[in-house]
Amino acid sequence: MPEIKKLLIANRGEIALRIHRACHEMGIKTVAVHSTADADAMHVRLADEAICIGPPPAGESYLNIPNIISAAEISGADAIHPGYGFLSENAKFAEIVELHNILFVGPKPEHIRVMGDKVEAKRTAGALGLPLVPGSDGAVSDIAEAKAIAERIGYPVIIKAASGGGGRGMKVCNAPDQLETLMQQAGSEAKAAFGDATVYIEKYLGNPRHIEFQVFGDGEGNAIHLGERDCSLQRRHQKVLEEAPSPVLSAEDRARMGGIVAKAMADMGYRGAGTIEFLWENGEFYFIEMNTRLQVEHPVTEMITGVDLVREQIRVAEGHGLSVRQEDIRFTGHAIECRINAEDARTFAPSPGLVSYFHAPGGMHVRVDSGLYAGYRIPPYYDSMIAKLIVYGRTREGCLMRLRRALEEFVVEGVKTTIPLHQALLDDPEFQAGDYTIKWLEEWLAREG
Ligand code: ADP
Repeated sequence: MPEIKKLLIANRGEIALRIHRACHEMGIKTVAVHSTADADAMHVRLADEAICIGPPPAGESYLNIPNIISAAEISGADAIHPGYGFLSENAKFAEIVELHNILFVGPKPEHIRVMGDKVEAKRTAGALGLPLVPGSDGAVSDIAEAKAIAERIGYPVIIKAASGGGGRGMKVCNAPDQLETLMQQAGSEAKAAFGDATVYIEKYLGNPRHIEFQVFGDGEGNAIHLGERDCSLQRRHQKVLEEAPSPVLSAEDRARMGGIVAKAMADMGYRGAGTIEFLWENGEFYFIEMNTRLQVEHPVTEMITGVDLVREQIRVAEGHGLSVRQEDIRFTGHAIECRINAEDARTFAPSPGLVSYFHAPGGMHVRVDSGLYAGYRIPPYYDSMIAKLIVYGRTREGCLMRLRRALEEFVVEGVKTTIPLHQALLDDPEFQAGDYTIKWLEEWLAREG
């Protein structure tokens, strides 16, 4: 069995640090790769080796496959962990890594490819027995066909890009006379953003929650689920705060749906960590997509299950199989993650620059995943998320109390952050009651702002 001795982290920011920590806890040496803008990053300082792979633009550094492969060869790394974003869902990258006899800490390339195309993903999910949002059977290009489909499923409908991601390339259509224009717009936006104009149509659900299941496979036909995360608090289809378990799901529903997704992954022969995303409305689940990587919000699952998901990814990549069986997984307590961005808490304008003072909260059941430190300069080139605050409590109520306390302690000076947004959210009675859907935060912002 291949044992990983040295792992290259093909990412930056908090997730690079997260991966480094898991490696050092397993006795694995780390290689950081970084752009010139990230030479002072925390994970670069902590890694055993660091290699500069290019200038600030991600296309020339964190997405530069030849430079990353060269860095792995020069340093003698026997594995690459892609983190999330960047190359993590690039099937070609996974293939190239494996062609160089380097272990890819992630799914099989063919599964990354299938799930990366949402039309293919939906077809595969349907064949595996997952419930789907009613819609077109595959891609739609013909307007007459689109009209017939929309008529059948009923308006409003949503036009989505097959290669979409990050909430981009989606158009909601309320009436037949708008359909043609919106299809064209969605197609050309998708072409510009993803190089693929393919779109499909599905029923636009009025007021659902976003509930996703964490799955894990060994690649040999065994798979488990680690429960769900509720990610309904979104702004512009981007998650802001996540919690596990979902405030609305019963243990029976969790076991039933978890059983369905785990079986689907076992049947597929899926390897590594994955997330199956659903919309949930009136007690029904509707598959929307699968992410074939670690998610930003994975720590809430770690908090309520005690399973280190990055360690598990590495073990599976080494061929050790899963370290836990389904019957060993216990869901205990409640966890919430706040994504803290270097942004104005009202306008959401990015606020990069020098962090003059930094103090992270601590104490029982408080976890901060962040590469920030006083004197660090947040570069303007990348995602604005600078920290994740994850808090655990035996009950949701206890978790909320602890989260409020932890946010009070959190100090970041020199740049603006979304800490005040999370504090205001915590004061809201509807949020406190867990009574929110994917529409809730935008309406709340319009009201409170
Ligand atoms: P992306 O890959 O761009 O994140 P998703 O398919 O995961 O796209 O959808 C992102 C978000 O868009 C969902 O969390 C939800 O808020 C909204 N959404 C997607 N499909 C629908 C739908 N059929 N009805 C209502 N909202 C939807």
